[in-house]
Amino acid sequence: MFDALADRLEGAWKKLRGQDKISQSNIQDALREVRRALLEADVNLQVVKDFVSEVETKALGAEVISGVRPDQQFVKIVHEQLIEVMGDVNVPLAEAETSPTVVLMAGLQGTGKTTATAKLALHLRKLERSCLMVATDVYRPAAIDQLITLGKQIEVPVFELGSDANPVEIARQGVERAKADGIDTVIIDTAGRLQIDTDMMAELATIKETVQPNEVLLVVDSMTGQEAATLTHTFHEQIGITGAILTKMDGDSRGGAALSVRKISGQPIKFVGVGEKVEALQPFYPERIASRILG
Ligand code: GDP
Repeated sequence: MFDALADRLEGAWKKLRGQDKISQSNIQDALREVRRALLEADVNLQVVKDFVSEVETKALGAEVISGVRPDQQFVKIVHEQLIEVMGDVNVPLAEAETSPTVVLMAGLQGTGKTTATAKLALHLRKLERSCLMVATDVYRPAAIDQLITLGKQIEVPVFELGSDANPVEIARQGVERAKADGIDTVIIDTAGRLQIDTDMMAELATIKETVQPNEVLLVVDSMTGQEAATLTHTFHEQIGITGAILTKMDGDSRGGAALSVRKISGQPIKFVGVGEKVEALQPFYPERIASRILG
């Protein structure tokens, strides 16, 4: 792992053979390589700048360890910094002290929110937690049908009141139903738009206020890179998220969004989507994404 970064840095350090420690001047080429690797992975520019500056400070302050070459030490610092930014362990889904645990799914249309709702329900079912999925996307009736179809497929019930009902009311009644039926976790799929808009945000805020969720998970399409940073910032500022699900990691994305989401919101990525199938969800492991980012 991290061989790729080591290879990249090889060139940068070659010119400096014979140097026995990291210095302000000999570190610059290596920092440029790290910067390039992160930008190629579509990490947000400000996040890249902060990251590189942190690495520089740590590398310059690092003790010289005998027997360890400066380039090896540098790669180790970059590795540690990536893990630090993304969070070093997987943070599991919150569980309410008294059932049901309420999970609110947020995000733009097309990011994989509805699919992620079903994926999460299946994941929990496998852990023997009973689930109820709630369909509040009344603006796109196909979204309700999609959730019903997915529900049948994974044998998880779906609560819906059709497309004429008020989304806030659907969410509220969905949670009531879960309570009455003794269900462990209720996952609320919400409406997404192609772009962030005021109405969508206001509705989401009201649903949140009404159902008091234990988790607000932002579903982020990993292919959107830079946009993911703006999205995270807006959702976190206006709604307050507790974590994220990074979808479409089976595509050719380098996963730079992972770094941006965590750094911008301070909240952990909890799962990654790795395919269209309902089984294609994995807990987020920073190590795996780190090596991918440094590709
Ligand atoms: P929503 O509008 O956010 O609810 O998005 P959907 O759940 O309907 O997903 C939009 C498209 O993305 C669908 O074609 C899904 O099959 C696809 N999709 C969702 N998650 C993943 C994933 O992790 N990998 C891949 N390759 N496709 C995904």
